[in-house]
Amino acid sequence: MLIDSHAHIDSPRYTEDRAAMLRRTKDAGVGAVLAIGIGESPAEMQQAFDICREFNGQSDIPRLFASAGVYPHNTGEIDERVLSKLDSLLAEPEVIACGEIGLDYYHEGASHDVQRIGLVKQLEIAAARKRPILIHCRPKDGRTDAWDHLFMTLDTYWRHTGLRGIMHCFGGEWEQARRSLDLGFLISFAGNITYPKAQPLRDVAAKVPLDSLLVETDAPWLAPMPNRGKRNEPAWVLQTAEVLASVSGRTADEIAAVTTQNFSNLFQLGNL
Ligand SMILES: [Zn+2]
Repeated sequence: MLIDSHAHIDSPRYTEDRAAMLRRTKDAGVGAVLAIGIGESPAEMQQAFDICREFNGQSDIPRLFASAGVYPHNTGEIDERVLSKLDSLLAEPEVIACGEIGLDYYHEGASHDVQRIGLVKQLEIAAARKRPILIHCRPKDGRTDAWDHLFMTLDTYWRHTGLRGIMHCFGGEWEQARRSLDLGFLISFAGNITYPKAQPLRDVAAKVPLDSLLVETDAPWLAPMPNRGKRNEPAWVLQTAEVLASVSGRTADEIAAVTTQNFSNLFQLGNL
């Protein structure tokens, strides 16, 4: 069994075939999916949770969990109402994580200061609800400032909680991987690790200890080879697991088993 630790299954790109897409996911051997609750704005933060409630309990569909959070470029929309919505979602048993939250200096959008303030406010709520966090971090190419600001923020506002998290769609270098591991975070690799030019990322992945690895799709984006460019879906997490297996000298079954165990341990889910 495999777990897709990060998929935007609330995306309107699945409106026509969400149930069929989830059945394909289960057929492919993916037993659980963490549905990311950021929507296209905070007004849609509950959509992932709604999908969990709609589909959980159906035997031909993977077990669904949800997160809730405000994406870095939506942090300008944070107000008391948004924060209290986040807080009540994180109180739900299916909403096991706060995210994806973090810093994105790659795309134009919310200023760096607004992003940092929004991140800190969400860290405080996640800490009070004892929920691990899902981090999105992306500097401009060739820079590390977003990572440096992220680690500074986590050192100040997160480390002391003893809670952990996931570096989602990891795209940093070994230095950022090492600092993430030092914080007790898991490192999740997405379909971009399968792309021809991603050898530096595969080299980083090969060094991450097995007990800190996760796999994800980040669907509907980042479809792995050979489906690059198409709409991605959680069933395709297998291709990413296979590449991770080959770089770490393991079988795909071993990667599936260890990443499932890591996910279960992080969220204290017992036997999935
Ligand atoms: Zn995402």
